[in-house]
Amino acid sequence: MPITANDTNRKSWLEVPLNSDFPIQNIPFGVFLTKENVVTVGTRIGDFAIDLGALQQLNYFEGIELTDDMFMQDTLNDFISDGQKTWRLVRNRIAELFDVENSKLQDNEKDKEIIIFNMEDVEMQLPVLIGDYTDFYSSKEHATNVGTMFRDPDNALLPNWLHIPVGYHGRSSTIVPSGIPVHRPMGQTLPNGETSPVFGPSRLVDFELETAFITTDVNIMGENILVTEAEEYIFGMVLLNDWSARDIQKWEYVPLGPFLAKSFASSISPWIVTMDALEPFKTKGPKQEPTPLPYLQQKGKHSFDIHLEVAIKPEKAEPTVISRSNFKYMYWTMSQQLAHHTSNGCRVNSGDMMGSGTISGPTPESFGSMLELTWGGKNPLKLNDGTERKFINDNDTVIMKGYSQNENVRIGFGEVSSKLLPTFVRK
Ligand code: MN
Repeated sequence: MPITANDTNRKSWLEVPLNSDFPIQNIPFGVFLTKENVVTVGTRIGDFAIDLGALQQLNYFEGIELTDDMFMQDTLNDFISDGQKTWRLVRNRIAELFDVENSKLQDNEKDKEIIIFNMEDVEMQLPVLIGDYTDFYSSKEHATNVGTMFRDPDNALLPNWLHIPVGYHGRSSTIVPSGIPVHRPMGQTLPNGETSPVFGPSRLVDFELETAFITTDVNIMGENILVTEAEEYIFGMVLLNDWSARDIQKWEYVPLGPFLAKSFASSISPWIVTMDALEPFKTKGPKQEPTPLPYLQQKGKHSFDIHLEVAIKPEKAEPTVISRSNFKYMYWTMSQQLAHHTSNGCRVNSGDMMGSGTISGPTPESFGSMLELTWGGKNPLKLNDGTERKFINDNDTVIMKGYSQNENVRIGFGEVSSKLLPTFVRK
C-alpha cells in the first residue's frame, strides 16, 4: 500500500512553524489529556494536538475498518495491534484531511473546535502500556568505551559482542513520559578503596542517550521471526533517556548484569514517530565484520539517519548542548535485534519497547553518556553558566532531541526532558 502521507509536496491548512519536528508528513501517534480531563489517542501537526477519538466519532475515518473505540482509549496498544495496513490507512487519511487542498474539515468550524487543541493545552501521557522492556547494547563505540574504562583497553569488546546483539530485560513499571521528574536513587555501592559496601544516595547519576522502538504483536510463543520480516512488526520509535546510576551499577552488575542501577527510571518522548514516516531516512549502518550468523544477515539499508543531541539545563541557567550523535552509528539494526530476540521463541507483544542501547558516535563530542563524555569523571564538562559536571546534579534537567532531515522534509521526535530531583523523602 502506498504511503501517501509521506508526499513532501503536501501542505497543511494548520500552521506549521519553520523547522518544526511535526510537519504534515510526520503524523506521529500519542496519548494526551485535555483540560476537560478527557484522555484520547491523538496526533500532532505543528503545535496542534489532534484528537483521533473525536475524528473517529465524527466519522472522518469512514471506510477504514476500525473497532468503535479504537482511539477513545488511554493507550495505543489496540491500534498498534491492528498492524501495518491499518497504521498506513489511518496516517494516509489524516494527511488527506489536513491537506490544504481538502476543505472537508478545514471549513467545518464546529468540528474543528472539538478535534483540534493547542499543544500547550494538553498533557502528554505514556503512549502505550509497555508490557515488556528490553534494552540492547548495540553501539560498538559505547561498548568499546565502557570496556576500556572498566576492564581492559586491549580487549574492550567481549568475545560475544560482534556475534550477538547483547541485551537485558529491563523494567517497564518505571518508564515515564517527558516532563515527569525523577528522584536520585538510593542504593548499595562499594566506595573506592573500601572492602565493605554502603547504602545511600547514588553519587554518579547518568543519562543514556538512546532511541527505542515499539512493536506490534510479533509472534506466538515458540515462533521466531525472520530478520527479513522483522521491520513489518516495528510500529515506530521514541527518544529514550535510560537513566543509570553508575556507582550502583559497578557494584551490582556481576554476574547477571544491570538491576537497580537502571530500574529507577527510564524517560521517553511522548510521540511515537512511525517507521513509515522515517522511511525516507533509511541508510546503511556500519559494515559488520565478522559476518553475523545466517539468522542475523541482511542486505540493503536497515539503519536510519537520525540526528540526536543532549543538553543539560541547570536549575537557574540556560541549557548547554553536551553531545551530538546519530542513530546511524549503531552496529546492530533494530530488525537484527528483534530477530535475535525472538530466535529462541520468546514472545513479543503489541506495546513492547526495545531500547537501542547508549548511542555513542566515533568522536568524543558524540558520546551518549556522562560516563564517556567525562571519561569516568576524569574530565568534567564545562557548562555555559561556568559550572562543571562530572555526572548529573540534583535539579539539573536532561533534554534529548532528535530529528531526521533531507532537502524536502524534517521528521522529528520533539524531546524527552526530565529533571533529576534529590532523593525521595519518606513522609
Ligand atoms: Mn541503556
